[in-house]
Parts: sequence; C-alpha cells; structure tokens
Amino acid sequence: MPAHILVVGGGIGGLSAALALSRGRHRVDVFEQARVFAEIGAGIQMGPNVTRRLQQLGLAEGLEAIAARPEALVAQGAGSGAELARLPLGDAMRERYGAPYFCVHRADLHALLLEAVRARGTGTLVTDARIAQVETSDDLVCISSSGARAWEGEALVGADGLWSVARQCLDVPSAAEPPRATGHTAWRGMVEQAVLPQALRRSRIDVWLGPRLHAVAYPVRAGAWLNVVVIAESAPAGDARDWDQASSLAALQEATGRSASALQALLEAMPGWRAWTLNDRPPLASAAEMAHERVALVGDAAHPMVPYLAQGAGMAIEDAVALAEALGQGDAADVPAAFTRYAEARWQRNALVQAKARRNGQIFHATGPVRIGRDLAMRTLGARLLD
Ligand code: FAD
Repeated sequence: MPAHILVVGGGIGGLSAALALSRGRHRVDVFEQARVFAEIGAGIQMGPNVTRRLQQLGLAEGLEAIAARPEALVAQGAGSGAELARLPLGDAMRERYGAPYFCVHRADLHALLLEAVRARGTGTLVTDARIAQVETSDDLVCISSSGARAWEGEALVGADGLWSVARQCLDVPSAAEPPRATGHTAWRGMVEQAVLPQALRRSRIDVWLGPRLHAVAYPVRAGAWLNVVVIAESAPAGDARDWDQASSLAALQEATGRSASALQALLEAMPGWRAWTLNDRPPLASAAEMAHERVALVGDAAHPMVPYLAQGAGMAIEDAVALAEALGQGDAADVPAAFTRYAEARWQRNALVQAKARRNGQIFHATGPVRIGRDLAMRTLGARLLD
C-alpha cells in the first residue's frame, strides 16, 4: 500500500528521493525552506554509479542534454603544472561501467529533478517552509515550520542537508551534535568558455594538487561553461552555514600563496569568486545513524563529506533510489521495517565513501616527503590511486 511521505529539504537529495518514491506510487510532499526551489551556481561531477541511477529514474534524455562529457581526468602539480596521472573517462567509462561520466551545473540537475517531480504530480511542493520541529508517534510524523504551519504524514525523509533538523530524531548519541569544521575553504568561479582565450578552455577534468590545496576545473552545461573550484587549508571566513559567500581573487590568493602558480592564468580569468567553508561528519558507524522508526535520512543530512571524491550528491542520489527500493519490498505500510532495510543497505557504503573522501584530502594536500611519494605513486599507478 502506498505511503504518505513528507520530505524535508528540496535540494538534490530531497528531489531525488521525491522522484524515486513517487515512481513507487507513494504520495510525497516536499518542504523547502527557501522561497523558491533553486540551486547555487556550481558544478557537480557524476560517476557512472550516479548517472546509472538517474537513468533508472527516467532522466537519461534530460541528463544527456545538460551534461558535459569530459574525455579524461588529468592530475598535475599545482606549482609546476607537470602531469602526474591521466584517467580516461568518455567512452572508457561507458565501456567499463555501462554508464557515462558526466559533469553538470547544479542548477541544471536540480531543474531536471524538479520538472520530473512536478510531472509526476503525486504530492505538493511547499516552499518558504523552514521545518523547525519534528514529532513522531507509533503511526504518524508531524512536522511544523517556524511560521507555525504543521503537516502530518506516515513517514519522514530528512533531506535537509548538513545542518539537518530531521537528524535530531535519530536514536544515537551524535544526533544533536553539530557537523565538524574541516579547516578547509572552497572557492568557486564559473565562466562561459566562449569568453576565455583558447588555451584556458577545457573539455576534460583538470586537477591540480597541493601543497595544502587543490583545484579542479571542468566543463558543465554541455561544455559551454567552465566550473573552477579551489580548496585550500584556510581559516573559516563568514557564516559556516552560508554556501554562497561573496569572495574575491585576492582572498583566494591570500590562502593559496604562490603554491598555485600553474593555475594563475585560469584563476585570473574568472569573473568572480564565491566561497564556502567545508564541514563534514565522521564516517557513519551504524545503520542507526541513517534511520529510526518512521524517519530516514538521505544525503548530507546523514553523511556530509568533504568533496574530494566528488560523490556527496552521488550518494544522496544512490540513497534516494535505495530508499524507494526498500519501501517497495515487503509491506510498505510497515514503514519502520522498510527504513531499517534501507539504512542497513546503505550505511556501510556511505561510511566508506566518507572515509575515502577524507583520505583523498590528505593525498591532494600532501606536503614534504609524503608529497614526493604521492607524485611518484601517481606517476606509477595513475589516477586510479584516487578512486
Ligand atoms: P543540500 O544540497 O544541502 O540540500 C538541503 C536542502 O534542504 C536545501 O535546499 C536547504 O535549503 C533545505 N533545508 C535545510 N534545512 C531545512 C529545513 N529545516 N526545512 C526545510 N528545508 C531545509 N557532490 C558530488 O556528487 N559531485 C561533486 O562534484 C561535488 N562537488 C562538490 C564541491 C563542493 C565544493 C562541495 C562543498 C560539495 C560538493 N559535492 C559534490 C557534494 C554535494 O554538494 C552535496 O553532497 C549535496 O549537495 C547534498 O545534497 P543534499 O540534498 O543532501 O543536501
């Protein structure tokens, strides 16, 4: 029997969950704190594990239209620009994994998901609803917004990101603990490729490594735009909850010093910079950190991670598909049992990806002898060292 599910948070995780669940015939209402459903201007890399799930959700055609198809990932030294390793993507990924490696603009992916959820028409999409409180009973969940509005359903999916309110429903000691500051800051810039000199345009993923920083550049919007992200070990500036702080090339350069010399021309060509400070949580330690009774978490609400494996949104999308599968097995009316199946199926995978993302940060930002060893290993083993 279909369930009535409330999804808190209308980001990539929340909309993916809404789409997957509505395809399972559940009634799904989504509650988003912002006045409009939208995403910030940044890029997302998606490996075949993620594009396969989006195809499963009926988005293959839409995805092909918005995606850039990088032909390779090339890792190089941030100071010297010397190539360290190259991983073929393009046809190599499709042949090896049966699904493509895509780079998209977050807003394009978000719009694609939103359109698909709207087209299902199996629930309401509520904006300007900052959920402040969640109450659960044996049969129901009740959420209320800071504007004193309230809604009831049979189950709650917490897709409310890093600072999740839904997370407080978990039956684990860490439920009310805040995320941890990583001491890393990400700067991002985006530019239309047509306005760049030819030498700065990109059709592949470039990664520049350390010391104490790394940078990534890749095309989005079917290759028409370039997304550049620089992450440096730098004291947090501004509001840790704000993903979209105004910043500048000067602030970025103050954090990177001369370490990013091979990148200078690209950094200077960006029309502007936005910044956000990075937070994460330790890898999940049990299924109980993903679900409790009628509440299940997806994406960053459950397992926020540093973006050094480019899989945070990917794990949210995998969660969404797995959640719908768990509710599709057995008696959907038994929501707690389905959510337990979901959490059991997902927590170890998410924990592993969180740990690998952290490990990649150490490799990317290595200094001294460790850095020399890393460069040697990358030249020998190639970019699969970062898989
Ligand atoms: P969010 O995107 O945080 O969405 C949460 C939503 O819930 C928001 O819309 C928010 O407004 C809403 N909300 C929050 N609280 C409430 C409330 N109380 N009531 C109602 N609504 C609420 N991942 C990849 O897969 N590939 C990449 O290449 C990649 N690159 C990244 C680069 C950087 C620099 C960073 C920082 C992250 C990157 N990620 C990447 C990770 C990815 O951005 C996140 O993992 C992903 O956005 C998580 O999605 P989410 O829907 O779980 O959470």
